[in-house]
Amino acid sequence: MTQFETQSGERFADFDLPEGCMMCGGAVSIRATPAGAHGYCPHCHVLSRPQMRVKPNGVELSFETTALA
Ligand SMILES: [Zn+2]
Repeated sequence: MTQFETQSGERFADFDLPEGCMMCGGAVSIRATPAGAHGYCPHCHVLSRPQMRVKPNGVELSFETTALA
């Protein structure tokens, strides 16, 4: 994971999420910004928008794969 911080204090992160693709199970490239996170699978070209939570020890991502009835 690569994290960096801008001079204005915004934090960004770019990293790969192994087996993060819900379509092919491949690695997804995640870009996380203060505005949210999005992921891209280079294998099947699926875009995803995981929910991101910033935790003291890192960033937690969750994918909305099912809708609650
Ligand atoms: Zn994929």
